[in-house]
Amino acid sequence: MQAPNVIGGVRLPDGGGASLRLARGASLSDFADKIGADAAALVQALFNLGEMVTATASVSEETLVLLGDEMNYKVEVVSPEDEDRELLESFDLQFGEDEGGEEALVQRPPVVTVMGHVDHGKTRLLDSIRKTNVGSGEAGGITQGIGAYQVKVTYEDEDRYVTFLDTPGHEAFTAMRARGAQSTDVAILVVAADDGVMPQTVEAINHAKAADVPIVVAVNKIDKEGAQPDKIRGQLTEYGLIPEEYGGDTMFVDISAKQGLHINDLLEAVLLTADNTLELMANPNMAAQGVAIEAHLDRGRGPVATVIVQRGTLRIGDSIVVGDAHGRVRRMVDEFGNDVDEAGPSRPVQVQGLNSVSGAGDNLLVVEDDRVARQIADRRNARKRNALAAKSRKRISLEDLDAVLKETSTLNLILKGDNAGSVEALEEALLKIEVDDEVALNIIDRGVGAVTQTNVTLAAASDAIIIGFNVRSEGKATEEANAEGVEIRYYSVIYRVIEEIEQALRGMLKPIYEEREVGRAEIRALFKASAVGLIAGCMVESGKVRRNASVRLVRDGSVVTDKANIDSLRREKDDVTEVAAGYECGMVLSYPDIQVGDIIEVYEEVEVPRD
Ligand code: GDP
Repeated sequence: MQAPNVIGGVRLPDGGGASLRLARGASLSDFADKIGADAAALVQALFNLGEMVTATASVSEETLVLLGDEMNYKVEVVSPEDEDRELLESFDLQFGEDEGGEEALVQRPPVVTVMGHVDHGKTRLLDSIRKTNVGSGEAGGITQGIGAYQVKVTYEDEDRYVTFLDTPGHEAFTAMRARGAQSTDVAILVVAADDGVMPQTVEAINHAKAADVPIVVAVNKIDKEGAQPDKIRGQLTEYGLIPEEYGGDTMFVDISAKQGLHINDLLEAVLLTADNTLELMANPNMAAQGVAIEAHLDRGRGPVATVIVQRGTLRIGDSIVVGDAHGRVRRMVDEFGNDVDEAGPSRPVQVQGLNSVSGAGDNLLVVEDDRVARQIADRRNARKRNALAAKSRKRISLEDLDAVLKETSTLNLILKGDNAGSVEALEEALLKIEVDDEVALNIIDRGVGAVTQTNVTLAAASDAIIIGFNVRSEGKATEEANAEGVEIRYYSVIYRVIEEIEQALRGMLKPIYEEREVGRAEIRALFKASAVGLIAGCMVESGKVRRNASVRLVRDGSVVTDKANIDSLRREKDDVTEVAAGYECGMVLSYPDIQVGDIIEVYEEVEVPRD
């Protein structure tokens, strides 16, 4: 039998070194369930270890591991990716694998992101590609900004396609990668021939390399005077991008995005690079899987998400789950604004029919039926909420500690605004408010768009107020805010926000107390009374003395104590509450060591207004 494991008097099970898997954001109750213990015991044990949490609150990874160590369990906190894989497996699903053998695979178009330094022509290039393709595409051209588009390239007498992500720059690319989504096959690095390699050029190279994505260099603006495409080739060699003509394996194409020069050569270079270095194959005959690259709430159509199908074929009527959103494909629109019934590998389409707005980088899966889609979405949603709550709770507890140490109080805010500019301006203005060192403003989250349920959850977990600037709440946010007691305030002018937050901060200031002398008395004689101890026979010299008042005892000009009280006060034989100057009285003080000649200063603390 194992020796009982005791923490601070609480008897706990002993894991005997066993391994235990817990999800990130798990609660003590989840922990207790796994080891067949009583959740209350874990709460108590953790309390004895110095942390106070409730049984159902998510706790941090460190806490789970620490508590596990105490009980001889090797706790392994499972990452969200692993957890998601396990979640899908429990539905017999797998993301990222093509079904069937090699014979099931067909070639798919490369998906391309355009990167490079600011002003080197990324946007112009994307425009230019869109336009050159009008001839081979629709009469109206690519009009719908769905976040991606596909162009046709005739290459070696074959019709081939290339898919472009419409958000240039490596930031979006890397943000998606951070969420586990590899959405790009080939990167086009745009470098202006009249400028050269700049900081973001280098950054883009590093990001592409980190993702193991091959680069095609577009040397742009060759129409400009002073353009030196060869210099660019030389510069990039230092970063490991060696042009083919120098014996390397990177393709360089001189272009003018403005004049539409050599755009076709660039597209061919992309295909050639893809063919030479990648095997872009996918099985088009399976339930579709893909990645969301953009999503928003459309006024008329509800939540819409642009997805790039990675394998399989997506069809109208399919039950889908995208991140924590689910639904059925009601309608699909391509970059021309045309309805499409199906979308195969590498095809971008805007999907309608989801119940909520998914995130960029979320994976899309077609599942058996609506019920499965909803179950997966719900589980992901719950997990997301837990993770968020655990994160914010941890941050709060740290700050609370800080606040206790510095005696500061913190006002937590979540900002939501109608656009990135206004949110930024608001945040800046709020952070400039100066009230006092004792109160601090802490903006724990900010974002563009309506106040969502997720915002409310975070606010509830962090005791925050939500500021909606030119936005309203959406979905069940208001309902949940009411249930959780979260305050949402709406504004449309910045100075109003500033004014009210400043007031709120002032309201949080602790009152300042000032001492005011009420009166003084001198001890003239001492009497012993068996029942009450030593009675001081006093003469009130100024002001008045009051029963229960705070007093300071001064002997020969120095303070003996300033934390004494007048416990009882008598005039002649009567108990009184006050004795005025010029009268004699008897007092019993809470401080026993008194002498004839001591001065009793009576004072009170009054709250003074702050300026
Ligand atoms: P981004 O910041 O990389 O997206 O750059 P833009 O596409 O916005 O281009 C920056 C500026 O360079 C704009 O004024 C473009 O018109 C201009 N530009 C882009 N490509 C070319 C080009 O090939 N030739 C010339 N002369 N100007 C260009």
